Amino acid sequence: MANSGTLRVAGWMVAAMWAVTAVVCFFGAGSWLGQAVEGQDRSLISPWGGIVAIVFVLDALLLTWLWARRLGEPEGPAAERPTGMGRRRFLAGLATGVGGVVASLVATVGRISPWLTVTQPNIVVSTPTAADVPKPEWQGARVQAYRRLGRTDFEVSDISLGSTRIKGEVGEQIARAAIERGVNYFDTAPDYSEAGSELTLGRAMKGHRDRMFLATKFCTPHGNLPAGTSVAHYMEAVEDSLKRLQTDYVDLVHIHSCDTIERLMDENAHEAFDRLKQQGKVRFLGFSSHTPNLEAVADKSIESGAFDVMMLAYHHGAWPRLNDIVRRAREADMGVVAMKTLKGAKHQGLMESREEQDSYTQAAFKWVLGNDDVSCLVISFREPSNVDEYLHASGKTMSEADYRVLDKYDRLIAGKHCYQHCGACLASCPEGLPIDDVLRFKMYFEDYGDEREAMRQYAKLEVQADVCTGCAAPCANACPFDVPIPEATAAAHRMLSLG
Ligand code: SF4
Ligand code: SF4
Repeated sequence: MANSGTLRVAGWMVAAMWAVTAVVCFFGAGSWLGQAVEGQDRSLISPWGGIVAIVFVLDALLLTWLWARRLGEPEGPAAERPTGMGRRRFLAGLATGVGGVVASLVATVGRISPWLTVTQPNIVVSTPTAADVPKPEWQGARVQAYRRLGRTDFEVSDISLGSTRIKGEVGEQIARAAIERGVNYFDTAPDYSEAGSELTLGRAMKGHRDRMFLATKFCTPHGNLPAGTSVAHYMEAVEDSLKRLQTDYVDLVHIHSCDTIERLMDENAHEAFDRLKQQGKVRFLGFSSHTPNLEAVADKSIESGAFDVMMLAYHHGAWPRLNDIVRRAREADMGVVAMKTLKGAKHQGLMESREEQDSYTQAAFKWVLGNDDVSCLVISFREPSNVDEYLHASGKTMSEADYRVLDKYDRLIAGKHCYQHCGACLASCPEGLPIDDVLRFKMYFEDYGDEREAMRQYAKLEVQADVCTGCAAPCANACPFDVPIPEATAAAHRMLSLG
């Protein structure tokens, strides 16, 4: 016979167990889920958080079952017991278990809720990928200029094909058209379109491989390879790329989206490159970077002398030290490939004027190629019409009209976004928040689509923008470019923190 006092205590213990389980799910399973959503190669994420969470859920379920069974046992003399009372109490006990499981699931998903509220609008409200009304003079545009890619000695098309979103029949059609119009540098990676990009380019290059310069990345279709990955794993990643690309060799392999010196100089990556080179499977080594540590990583690459090519975020009016880095790279005879050339691709800002929106990409390209130290730019081709639109800028120099278009773009984004990262506002914050860094990471997340790096860098900050909650905001008018700092930092915190 169950004692009601004992059962009450047991009930509190069950409730406490579910509360602890929900916390474990938030930090354990939720953390695992967060890393997966960030884009890390899942086979390289520790499963222990998820395993511990599952063990807690099973234990809590067992405890709830035992308690519910006791609840269903007779209490008091049979004559005084209402009919069906035991069954009802048993079912009520089980309902507690169901509620606990639901609470654990909510806690797990709650950990990644910022992704649901932030990333989704980014996906739905995508930037235009092609001009609405292609101009007749763009039709049939071809590559007009080739530039030497540093010590690789290869003459590459000044406007080259990035393939982040390329896949399938349309992708193949775009890549073939680009080859026919003179594009001879393809940039791909295993994690672009989950290997779809490499497969598509492999098909498109048939019969043309000899005259192409082909770059891929040390990476798997599931994400980057962290420092310390085994030599065998690095080599296997490239060999898998070769199969997908239907080729015996790639000209260039990059350390992908490199944010740290540790990854840049990982001995295993360099050993793998040397062995692959001896086997004739790769020719040159490079790295790509568009992260907050871009400058430090680029400096180290030049100093090390180990890299033939660098691929960097480079666009009008940002990264003040970049011109110096690019110049020193060229002096070291490294090839310099520009990416992220559209300065956040805030085309929506120019939607007020369709005519200028249509020419913004070309003006931005001409600005980048106006620097002779840049070997070429890589731009993501997404629509067949991009071939005409993008290649029309090849070999051309900036006109007065182009400067006006870029100025207008800057004016339209001014006061809305912090692109200067000048730090003029820092002294206004009594909390010591690194406002420039916070807003830079927001830009990486929001505009560059580099959510993983943005969140990783934000997580490293000693002071985060949660300090803005309840602050009287003396920073409100501190930005000479009229960036609404309190609103921007609050939005950044919602976007960049996982809980
Ligand atoms: S918010 Fe304004 S003042 Fe602060 S770093 Fe950005 S541009 Fe400079
Ligand atoms: S609102 Fe944020 S950034 Fe502005 S002063 Fe307060 S804590 Fe600093």
